[in-house]
Amino acid sequence: MQRRNLIAGNWKMNGLGQSLEFFEQIQQAVVSRPDVDVLIAPPATLLHRAASRAGRVLLAGQDCHAAASGAHTGDLSAEMIRDAGASHVILGHSERRTDHGESSETVRAKADAALTAGLVPIICVGEQEADRRAGREQEIVGDQLDHSLPDGGEFVIAYEPVWAIGTGLTASETDIASMHVFIRGRIADGAARRILYGGSVKPCNAASILALGDVDGALVGGASLKAADFSQIISAAG
Ligand code: PEP
Repeated sequence: MQRRNLIAGNWKMNGLGQSLEFFEQIQQAVVSRPDVDVLIAPPATLLHRAASRAGRVLLAGQDCHAAASGAHTGDLSAEMIRDAGASHVILGHSERRTDHGESSETVRAKADAALTAGLVPIICVGEQEADRRAGREQEIVGDQLDHSLPDGGEFVIAYEPVWAIGTGLTASETDIASMHVFIRGRIADGAARRILYGGSVKPCNAASILALGDVDGALVGGASLKAADFSQIISAAG
């Protein structure tokens, strides 16, 4: 089963100092890898401006509301994210699950809304450090998958061990490989689904992680803020 690699950058709540010349700066790497999909999730305030610079680079929101419209001050619907120029939306990132108390059921409702609006959800799952130490990582991730995923439609899964996000720690290649095999076996149409790894992916470790057979790309936080680093990660895609 041929699955295209996806290298996705999540700028999180960074953007004011982030020049949109970034898109021109990564252009060479993007053009030299026509076999790889490249995506950036800027803050929602930059989506519209990024859309005029992005070229072949796909754009994503970092979240959306489950409702189509209504009295939800400060929130954005999936349709609004799409209207601003995105084709994808990251959902269930551990920072949303922790900072905003998002449950897997909430993530699933948002994923349904995203699909209805024509967005491809990138649904994040991952265990805490204590879960892994207790050998419960598959139980935790399996439960998140069971309750976060929509029944069908196009979506991407990002496996992001929470203890590896923004810490400089990465899961071992053996642990990444076995979790990706586990996820593929747990979900419907597992052989066809793109499953990304996220957690301190950097130019120095990208090639070996992206070479793993069941890893179809990366969700990159910190290293997606620097065009040179992100370009190297695109070039390292397996
Ligand atoms: C993330 O935010 O999804 C992430 C993986 O961050 P970092 O690459 O900085 O660990």
